[in-house]
Order: sequence, then structure tokens, then C-alpha cells
Amino acid sequence: MPGDTTDTLGKGDVVSNESLANLLKEERRFAPPADLAAAANVTGAAYAQADADRLGFWAEQARRLTWDTEPTETLDWTNPPFAKWFADGKLNVAYNCVDRHVEAGNGDRVAIHFEGEPGDSRSITYAELKDEVSRAANALTELGVQAGDRVAVYLPMIPEAVVAMLACARVGAAHSVVFGGFSADAVASRIQDADAKLVITADGGYRRGKPSALKPAIDEAVAKCPQVEHVLVVRRTGQDTAFTEGRDVWWDEIVGRQSAEHAPQAFDAEHPLFILYTSGTTGKPKGILHTSGGYLTQASYTHHAVFDLKPESDVYWCTADIGWVTGHSYIVYGPLANGATQVMYEGTPDTPHQGRFWEVVQKYGVTVLYTAPTAIRTFMKWGDDIPAKFDLSSLRVLGSVGEPINPEAWVWYRKHIGGDRCPIVDTWWQTETGAMMISPLPGVTATKPGSAQRALPGIGATVVDDEGHEVPNGGGGYLVLTEPWPSMLRTIWGDDQRFVDTYWSRFEGKYFAGDGAKKDDDGDIWLLGRVDDVMLVSGHNISTTEVESALVSHPSVAEAAVVGAKDETTGQAIVAFVILRGSASETDTLVGELRNHVGATLGPIAKPKRIVPVQELPKTRSGKIMRRLLRDVAEDRAVGDVTTLADSSVMDLIQNKLPSASSED
Ligand code: ATP
Ligand code: MG
Repeated sequence: MPGDTTDTLGKGDVVSNESLANLLKEERRFAPPADLAAAANVTGAAYAQADADRLGFWAEQARRLTWDTEPTETLDWTNPPFAKWFADGKLNVAYNCVDRHVEAGNGDRVAIHFEGEPGDSRSITYAELKDEVSRAANALTELGVQAGDRVAVYLPMIPEAVVAMLACARVGAAHSVVFGGFSADAVASRIQDADAKLVITADGGYRRGKPSALKPAIDEAVAKCPQVEHVLVVRRTGQDTAFTEGRDVWWDEIVGRQSAEHAPQAFDAEHPLFILYTSGTTGKPKGILHTSGGYLTQASYTHHAVFDLKPESDVYWCTADIGWVTGHSYIVYGPLANGATQVMYEGTPDTPHQGRFWEVVQKYGVTVLYTAPTAIRTFMKWGDDIPAKFDLSSLRVLGSVGEPINPEAWVWYRKHIGGDRCPIVDTWWQTETGAMMISPLPGVTATKPGSAQRALPGIGATVVDDEGHEVPNGGGGYLVLTEPWPSMLRTIWGDDQRFVDTYWSRFEGKYFAGDGAKKDDDGDIWLLGRVDDVMLVSGHNISTTEVESALVSHPSVAEAAVVGAKDETTGQAIVAFVILRGSASETDTLVGELRNHVGATLGPIAKPKRIVPVQELPKTRSGKIMRRLLRDVAEDRAVGDVTTLADSSVMDLIQNKLPSASSED
């Protein structure tokens, strides 16, 4: 529909509107369940309230927290883009996440149901968590950690990861959590960049049914980081572990002998809380700095609003790893600030069997589940019969995060996991935004499969064209955030200029998210993937997300990743890497059929020039497809930085496949 698009991403765009209509077949909307809507934490009135007085709205949300000194200021935006929120307020983040729930009489409530991969489990109450965090805080002090220091955390998904983060927050040291599973080099560069003096790690963790060592990577990394004074080691697997006397300290020994009393000191609202490196999907990871009061306000509010979280009755489970931002905001800070009961799972979804997630949902009566599209597509690939064997009737709200969720996966998730009764909240946000920004509200929004829909109350988001003008409904362009928000990044650690250049220079006065998006006829926002990934084919902008969605809507395709590769005639040619479903086999007929299927769904211009069936796709540890690496392969270049890849051997397999594909041209 060229007529109703703008002159940017949508220029002459024959793809987007038609494809949405096609993928949805009919105008499918899912109204919120009546009982959920009637008792929802947040109603539609919140939008009007925030529109009328945005800063007043956030000042009210800040009162969800317990402050030592109540803030009288809300936003200081006198030196943009360097924001200060609630700047004259003082609080202790760990106190807000733990102690105050105990003081309110909820010490016996379970904070964390931990499920280890080998099947060991333990439940930790808020009172126990308070004691453990206090002991760990005392141990950090004994190891010389002070307010303003940085501590690197490299742990598996075990409760000590949460305790370590909260202990840092309690003493005012910023943590920098690095994925357990990153290489020694990746860890070393992050330790150096943050200048951490302490590293907290474990002997190992369980993955895919066996202990997997962590400490060797730290030993190798720390050898290159003379500023590290101590390495604190949690015993998880009990495997043989090299130990450097004087430097290394066992967690159970030093934490175990501390007092469970620790008086939390209040810090400024703008005191650094953590540094977290982005997943590196588009390039070199950036050290994103978050601070305390504004971050916790928005993490807490969004967890309350978007999941409709009822701390007395819900059992919440976020399947993210603690090493990425979802784990920070929606395992640690949001849920614990809200006094929630949650499940924490150590391992992989297919160990010991492919029904493990659903077994965990059934065991704990999980009511709210938050996971990623990549996981949902994997479950689809494994088959409907697996979740069908478990009782999932406790579920009432489902969330998605990390990538655009294709309508096919959305509908499957709703039907096979949500029993056609649970609303799905597709939450768009980034490491940089700290908390959710665009999402349906489960008791308010009539949801559309595949759309994150609209900015949350108090958040300003829109889609603009090349010149920064807002596009009309039906138009496509760049996603921008129009107003500062409480949990926004404050800078890139050690590089204010890169912060300004990356996010605030593209469009005057607006935050440039780096994602393409479009607005449908109702003004709802659809994310179209990264701007860097948008393809320009014969003068048409085509989004990778839409071609991938079209491929996955074919019964033979489980997953797809699409890139634009340089092409002499068309500018860029679409190259698709697909994982076929179990029974489908790789034949020329099938490849032809897939090309035609995309053509029929999106229009002939979107037909991939090449389709390459592969066994696996290159993904980050957070499950995101690294299209820039596939682009390197498709353009026959040396493959770029793979340090944040979950499994770097995947690239070799793909490269080996490609020569035969290129010879077709
Ligand atoms: P880097 O910035 O280093 O390339 P990254 O962007 O993958 O890494 P994250 O901050 O973990 O690092 O991911 C945020 C990005 O994930 C968003 O910018 C967006 O592209 C994508 N994303 C997250 N949630 C959604 C969603 N619900 N819908 C669409 N895209 C999403
Ligand atoms: Mg990013």
C-alpha cells in the first residue's frame, strides 16, 4: 500500500501493511478477560492521569518505594541528555527489595523458589533473604568493598546471584553482572572497563545435565586484571577448583561466619546501582549505567502494572538469565521491590526432558510467566503435545520480551500455554531503558498478535521519519522516545560522548532506540527489528522481522533469520537462513515453495533470493539472532566479533553450508 506510507522506512513500501493483514488473516483482537480487568492493578485511567501530569504521575509512583529522605524534586532535565530523577531523595535499594517486606510482617512469604537443573530445590523466604543479604553485605565490607566501588558478578542462575547483587546495592557498590558462559576474554574486558575490584563467581553451574565450570574463565580473566583484589567463590557443583590463596575466598566460609545484622545506609537517588553491557547484537557491547531511585521506581511500577502482579497470590516466573537486563529488572529489582514470590530456574528448557518448563509451572502453580520469542519458537518446534501433558491452568498472564514476537508464535503461545485465556503482554524495552516502555496492559488492552501496541502510562514513544517528524497512522520509520523516563540509562560507563552520539544525536531532543517500527491504522506500534537490519531491495525498505514472520508461518519452518546482502542489481538481496521442522527435509522443491510462500504473503519484492537451511542460528546468550554475523557470511567476509555468541561453532557450520548456496547465483 504505497499510498499510506511515509518517505522513510515505508517508502514505496509494498510490504508492511499487507503483511500484517495477511499474517493476521482477520482483524484478530483479544479483549482482556473480564475477571482480570475487574480486579486489575492498573486501569485505563492511568493513561489519562499520566497525560494530564506526567511528572506528577512518576512522583506518585516513586512513593511505591520507601525513602529515607522523600524526594521533593522529580525530574532535573537542565543538562540534557543527562537526567536526574528524584535527585534530593535518599534510599537503600536492597532495603526496599527485602527488609521492608519483613518489617511489614511478610517475612514468611517465599521470595524465591529455586529449582536447580539436577532437580534440587529450595525455597527462600523474605526473612531468610534478608539475613543472607545482610551477611553477604558484611562479607563485602570485610573484603574491602566500599560505596562507589564496582563488583563483577559471574554466576549461574542460583539464589546467590540475587543475594550478591542485593549485597552490592546494600553497600552502595555498583555490580556489573557478566553472563556465566562468556569467554575469559569477554569477562576480562568487562572487568577492565568497569574497573572492578572484586569478582563474585562459583565453582560451576549445571547446564544440560552436567556441571559446567566457571572458575577457570575467571582465573584466566583475572590474570589480566591486576585491580582485582579478591575472588569470592560460591560452591555450587563441588567440582575440583583451582584456588589462589590470599586472593580467592569461599562464599560459604566468609559469608557464613558474618552477622545477619547489617544496617543499610541510604544513598542518593542518583547513586550508581549497576553497569550492564548490552548483548552486542549490533556491535561492541556498551556499558550501560543505571542509578537507584528512578530505576527502582519504574522497575517496580511496570512489574506491578504490566503483569498485574498480586504479591499475596501470584507465583511469578521470569525465565531470563540474570546476566541480561530482563534478569536485573524482572527477577531481581522489580519483583523483589514488590514483595513477589517467584521461581528461579537454573538450567536449560530441555534438561532432562523437553517438558521441563511446564513441569516447573505445574509444580509451583506459576501464574505469571515471562519468556522470550526464541524460547516460544523452540517449544513450537518441539511440538504441542509436550505442554499438553502438564497442568498449566494456574497461568493467568503471559509475557514476551527480547525480540519482535511473530504473530504465529504469539498465537501458539496464547493457545498452547495460555489455554486461550491468558492475555499476552509483548513488552518492548532495552538494556538502556532499564524497564518496560511499550506494552499492553493485561486488564486494559485488546491485544493484537505481534504488536507491543502503545507506550505505558508516563512514557512517550512514537515513530518518526528521517527528518524526525512523527509519521501518521499507517506509516513506518524509527522508534523514538520523546520524554525522559525514570529508569533511563544515565550514560555509557566512562564514555559520555558515545552516550550522546549513540542515542541523542540522530533526532534533536529525542532518544533514538535503533529499532524500526510502524504504526498501524489505530496508531498501535509494531516493532520491525533493528534499523541496522532493515533491507533495501530495489528501492523498497523491507524489514527482516516481516520476512522472518512470513517464513515461520510456513508449516515446514521452525525458525528463520533474514539478512540483506549486497547485490549488484537490486542493491541488497534477501538471504534467509532457516531451521526446518523435524519432519521437513531440505529439497529444492521445498526451498522453491518457501520463496513462493514469502512472495504470496508479502509480495514478490520480498521473495528471498537465497534460502539456506541450517541446523542452528547464531544467537547471543539471551537468545537473540546475530544478523550481523549472517550478513558477514552472506557477503563472504570474515565473521565479526563473536564474543557474545552462545555457541561460536554455529558459525562454522553455517559457513560450510554457504558455498554451495552461493554457486546457485
Ligand atoms: P546491542 O545494543 O549491543 O546491539 P541488544 O540491543 O540486543 O544489544 P538488549 O538491550 O538486550 O541488547 O536488547 C534490546 C533490543 O531487543 C531492542 O532494542 C529490540 O531490538 C529488541 N527487543 C526487546 N524487546 C522487544 C519486543 N518486545 N519487541 C521487539 N523487539 C524487542
Ligand atoms: Mg541495543
